[in-house]
Amino acid sequence: MNGYLNESSFMMVEEGFTSRDLLESTLGERQAFFVADLGDIVKKHLLFLKALPRVKPYFPVKCNSSGGVMRLLAELGAGFACANKTEIAEVQSIGVPADKIFYSSPCKQVAHIRYAASCGVQLMTFDNEVELGKVARSHPQARWVLIPSAHPSMMFGATLKSCRRLLESAKEQDVEVVGVSFHPGGHGLEPQVFAQAVAEAQLVFDVGAELGYRMHLLDIGGGFPGTEDSRAQFEEIAAVINSALDTYFPEGCGVQIVATPGRYYVTSAFTFAASITSKEEVPVEQPGSDGEESGSKKSLVYHLSDGIYGTFSSVLFDGPCPKPLLHKVRIQPGWGEPCGADQITDDVELPELQDGDWLIFQDMGAYTIATSSLCGGCPRPHVTYAMSPVQLLQGKLPAADDHESSCTPLSCGWEMVESLCVPPVFTPAGII
Ligand SMILES: *Cc1c(COP(=O)(O)O)cnc(C)c1O
Repeated sequence: MNGYLNESSFMMVEEGFTSRDLLESTLGERQAFFVADLGDIVKKHLLFLKALPRVKPYFPVKCNSSGGVMRLLAELGAGFACANKTEIAEVQSIGVPADKIFYSSPCKQVAHIRYAASCGVQLMTFDNEVELGKVARSHPQARWVLIPSAHPSMMFGATLKSCRRLLESAKEQDVEVVGVSFHPGGHGLEPQVFAQAVAEAQLVFDVGAELGYRMHLLDIGGGFPGTEDSRAQFEEIAAVINSALDTYFPEGCGVQIVATPGRYYVTSAFTFAASITSKEEVPVEQPGSDGEESGSKKSLVYHLSDGIYGTFSSVLFDGPCPKPLLHKVRIQPGWGEPCGADQITDDVELPELQDGDWLIFQDMGAYTIATSSLCGGCPRPHVTYAMSPVQLLQGKLPAADDHESSCTPLSCGWEMVESLCVPPVFTPAGII
């Protein structure tokens, strides 16, 4: 092991162990918590290396900055994409060297640039003149990666022109531009979007070469799907990318390819459990009803011990809340109130719930942890990490040299869904 992860960082679970055991043992102590299957992240990593053998992953810290994830990914040899000084410091605090850190935010504060310079982080992105000027002054050793500005209203010709202007300006200021970065952005992207971006990047490389730059780094960004059922879609995207790379950046062309997959790595590894703290009945308004009978249909509103100012903040800017599964246990509600009136989802069909029952949300690894401090008073939910010895061993393999044998499917007895799920039936319920 490289020493980032040690055996006190997670629970060693035997094969055949179910997360229900883990969940049960934690339920009494807390009102909301995560369980994280680190083995799932190991599998994702090995699949990434296999599907995109030419691409080196840099994990974006903003997607999930929990200690177990960062340590595991460092252990696996991934790099990190940081958006600011805090993230750089967090990554460095676990011992990651500066050459594995990519300062990938296009908008940087001067103080943060100086900080990056002081700790030897060189790789950073820019997409405009102002940014270029800032870094040229405060971090002369920086190695720049150009983000072609891609406003939806802009034709690529205009983008290319602005790239030329920026590269000319960089040349005048004696700034070293080493590559091109694009992030198609969001999720649910068509595979062709990635192919087109690779093709366009190649045109920017040509402009760079005309101006005397020998660029050697291509960052293809993130946006790869991360749920259990999207493996085929990921593989399809990977195939399209590989073929675009072979066409525009063939092997041996001297260009290193990197990516910043966030949700891909962590979405399915995290499961969140939250208890019902209170509930209320509200009448459902029927369209066209005169009010007389409208009370006959009711909806139930449930309050949880977490909300959109905490773990569910991803509902605000990333996507809908995953559908919860019910876990029936009665325990007395404990501390805490939800922070404000914040609806995370509605129209979920569930059996009627009581105070102290638990809802289980799967696929909660992306954009839930790092952002879960929006509400000052809400503590960050505890994360219990688990991994089986087999997976630990897989993570130790020098993965880059051993793709085939390391990608066999694994089980650490993590099949929690079936054992926890009560089939969703009857009562339409709103959950707040
Ligand atoms: C947030 C971000 C990512 C990660 O996106 P995912 O959809 O989580 O893979 C990658 N690159 C950049 C520049 C980002 O801002």
